Amino acid sequence: MGDSQLVHPPLFTYISMLTLLTIVPPFVILMWYTNVHADGSVLQTFNFLKENGLQGLIDIWPRPTAVAGKIIICYALFEAILQLLLPGKRVEGPISPTGHRPVYKANGVAAYIVTLITYLSLWWFGIFNPTIVYDHLGEILSTLNFGSLIFCLFLYIKGHVAPSSTDHGSSGNIIIDYYWGMELYPRIGKHFDIKVFTNCRFGMISWAVLPITYCIKQYEEYGSLSDSMLVHTIITLVYVTKFFWWEAGYWNTMDIAHDRAGFYICWGCLVFLPCIYTSPGMYLVKHPVNLGPQLAISILVAGILCVYINYDCDRQRQEFRRTNGKALVWGRPPSKIVASYTTTTGETKTSLLLTSGWWGLSRHFHYVPEILASFFWCVPALFNHFIPYFYVIYLIVLLLDRAKRDDERCKSKYGKYWKKYCDKVPYRVIPGIY
Ligand code: NDP
Repeated sequence: MGDSQLVHPPLFTYISMLTLLTIVPPFVILMWYTNVHADGSVLQTFNFLKENGLQGLIDIWPRPTAVAGKIIICYALFEAILQLLLPGKRVEGPISPTGHRPVYKANGVAAYIVTLITYLSLWWFGIFNPTIVYDHLGEILSTLNFGSLIFCLFLYIKGHVAPSSTDHGSSGNIIIDYYWGMELYPRIGKHFDIKVFTNCRFGMISWAVLPITYCIKQYEEYGSLSDSMLVHTIITLVYVTKFFWWEAGYWNTMDIAHDRAGFYICWGCLVFLPCIYTSPGMYLVKHPVNLGPQLAISILVAGILCVYINYDCDRQRQEFRRTNGKALVWGRPPSKIVASYTTTTGETKTSLLLTSGWWGLSRHFHYVPEILASFFWCVPALFNHFIPYFYVIYLIVLLLDRAKRDDERCKSKYGKYWKKYCDKVPYRVIPGIY
């Protein structure tokens, strides 16, 4: 069951689950509609819905089409084949609460590079024009939307009848099981990890493929590429490249090691991520802004710096754990807490908590550069419309909630040791403020 239930009262959690299940799928379509057909104006979409009500939403909702289905299936199959066949180092994930340790093949960088080279080559040699993806984006998102809801049903049934590991179970409530998922590490066969596919390969690679698509569309539409689109795309690509560079580290994070495969994570990565995370670029296609070299370079440098700091926070924590607390942190031996905890099978284990470096500034300092980086890849749109900033607002809400969920989970895992960490590092996210 999701950690949210540890943080929020059960009724609140239940209502927010039902709300998200019903509101977020149409929201994705409205985001596309606003950026592509309503001049990026939330007010225009709002007025349209006010006048036309539910029928208006049904009218603008593109029907799934064969073209959209073909594009999605080709992309998904291509990523699945790369995931299975490309070589990669054997990597072990963290031990789960039931004592299971997942094993992965770390071939994310190769899959990412092969995808981008293939996509650009298809365009360059005139085999496939990426503008087709932009022109059918509404149908693609609609098809993905329905297809992924069905896929989550498959995950739910699989969790009941054929779980892949000991890390599975039912809450006894079908909505909760569908929403939070049944299995922590679902696989098809022994090797095909479903969460690596949905989160990393389908979701995260789409976050690079779509901005490139938007650049090509803008170029074909206006005969040039605006510096705002260029800055937005470069920062995004640096971020996604960083993600794949560090992909094996991601397999130790909450998304993979704590959140089960259900609507929340899998639908989120299959539909919400490709649409909402790329929405600033979707907006820029039809709203090219000329920033001028000075502003463009300043935003670019600030964005890349934030991505680097975010990477360094994650790297510092993982190096610290990997070397059993021996790696130097900011040139000095790290200060740490040796925290013991009991697994669900009754075994006592220990973990090290880093209390210096980035992790001594606040308990989730890594979210600060993450949010700032997202601001810098949205700000090239300047301030004519609100919609390019939706992602930043969403990320702030997501990460503040995540920080709270993670604190609660760590508190129940480490007890007095976590309290010691909180005494030493009192701020949750922003040093001196929160
Ligand atoms: P992590 O899972 O990487 O870090 C939290 C975990 O680290 C805790 O659950 C705990 O796990 C361990 N931990 C906590 N404090 C310490 C410490 N002081 N020393 C050592 N270990 C500690 O966090 P996230 O998954 O939230 O973030 C990973 C990355 O993903 C970040 O860069 C984040 O910004 C990014 N992210 C991006 C999102 C997006 O949508 N753009 C969404 C979420 C994250 P344990 O049980 O092992 O002790």
